[in-house]
Amino acid sequence: MSKYQSINPYTGETFASFDNPTSQRIEETLALAHALYKKWRHEEPAVRAEQLQKIADSLREHKEEIATLMTKEMGKLIGEAREEVDICAEICDYYAQNGAKLLEPTPLKTDLGKAYYLKQATGVVLACEPWNFPLYQVIRVFAPNYVVGNPIILKHAHNVPSSAALIQKLIHRAGAPEGALLNLYLSYDQIDQVIADPRVQGVALTGSERGGVSVAEAAGKNLKKSTMELGGNDAFIVLDDADSDQLKQVLSDARTYNDGQVCTSSKRIIVTEDKYDEVLTDLKEIFSQLKPGDPLDEQTTIAPMNSQRAADKLQKQVDSAIAAGAKVAYKFPGKGQGAFFAPIILTDIDQNNPIFDQELFGPVAEIYKVKDEDEAIELANNSSYGLGSSVISSNIKRAQAVAAQIETGMTVINGRWITAGELPFGGVKKSGYGRELSELGIMAFVNEHLVIDVSK
Ligand code: NAP
Repeated sequence: MSKYQSINPYTGETFASFDNPTSQRIEETLALAHALYKKWRHEEPAVRAEQLQKIADSLREHKEEIATLMTKEMGKLIGEAREEVDICAEICDYYAQNGAKLLEPTPLKTDLGKAYYLKQATGVVLACEPWNFPLYQVIRVFAPNYVVGNPIILKHAHNVPSSAALIQKLIHRAGAPEGALLNLYLSYDQIDQVIADPRVQGVALTGSERGGVSVAEAAGKNLKKSTMELGGNDAFIVLDDADSDQLKQVLSDARTYNDGQVCTSSKRIIVTEDKYDEVLTDLKEIFSQLKPGDPLDEQTTIAPMNSQRAADKLQKQVDSAIAAGAKVAYKFPGKGQGAFFAPIILTDIDQNNPIFDQELFGPVAEIYKVKDEDEAIELANNSSYGLGSSVISSNIKRAQAVAAQIETGMTVINGRWITAGELPFGGVKKSGYGRELSELGIMAFVNEHLVIDVSK
């Protein structure tokens, strides 16, 4: 049976399944994408930028269709699915409006002649993407590379194959030439073959460390450029001067948005002792008001997880944490349908606890009590990961100073994770390397081609 299946995690219904491609199909796909790269080399980025604006418009036009499918396929709340489509349309807007400018040649000062570097396409890029934001993860790679002129071969997660097919269809229908984004339901072995193909010049992966290690190894072996957007165990630092109203507002979905299945979700809530009881009380209240149910129902505020397998894995991690001494400060009493996981708050997690340095990808809040700011920073940095983080304080200068000391790729002051076309996204340590989005992300698979005129 094919691994690529659309299974509604709320109802358990399997509503589509797809086979791995044949060798011939892979060859045809590579040939099509490569031919488009060659054609695009003769076209200005401004032409593609105009087309990208049409893709943004099409995403807005088909918002309900995309959002409903994402909700059915991986269980996210319908309101959050609509928000995801809006963000993706805005990312396309950003590159449609700024992409061509960002790709203009950069002059260089030198005594050796008149020098500048071009920013040119390099070729086909393979994008291996996760299920947690089925559209957003793809658009983060597709939109900048579309303006650059790098066609994308999409290998989406095995549990969102219908979303992958719809994304390809909508992009093509919006006027993108055939080959701009081609979806293949690749096996892991086929991924390695595609990476090894000389027509493929880069690979972008967003996902877990497991997937990252395997794909980065294949890219390294073949000397292909890669970007790795991996997991996180983000610190959410609450300083003693945090404003109570702001704190509560930020906490409201910091750990439950997308059912906690966000790489930059606030997984470790690190609180100075003065604020500890307040945070615990606030979080208990927030969690107790959650309403499980059908994610297509607007009244539901806590979705099922993306699959029963994910819920079972999370339960094992929580059980191991409790067995090692973690305390359950709160557990949601209700039972939800399907792959529902009851939100839970854990405290008293010491450094020997198996989950101390693990990512818990679901609605589990881990709360840590610390003496002061220094201890908070030390604990935040005591992690293999370094993706996002938050600092909550009413003194912005102080919060900025704390932010600068956290070994992480992103810090939000007085807010939870955030994303936009103009803001870079990415991490350090085992959270990966490279950046997506913004003026940095567009350069990921660009050839910075030096041209220098030394004629006398
Ligand atoms: P995953 O298992 O690594 O999957 C991500 C992608 O990689 C999928 O397309 C998957 O295909 C593929 N993959 C997995 N193992 C592979 C292997 N050994 N060889 C080749 N390809 C492989 O990740 P996930 O569990 O679906 O996603 C959740 C993780 O993604 C979390 O750790 C989260 O923090 C991280 N994430 C990071 C970011 C970021 O920007 N840093 C954003 C979102 C999520 P299959 O589905 O076919 O296995």
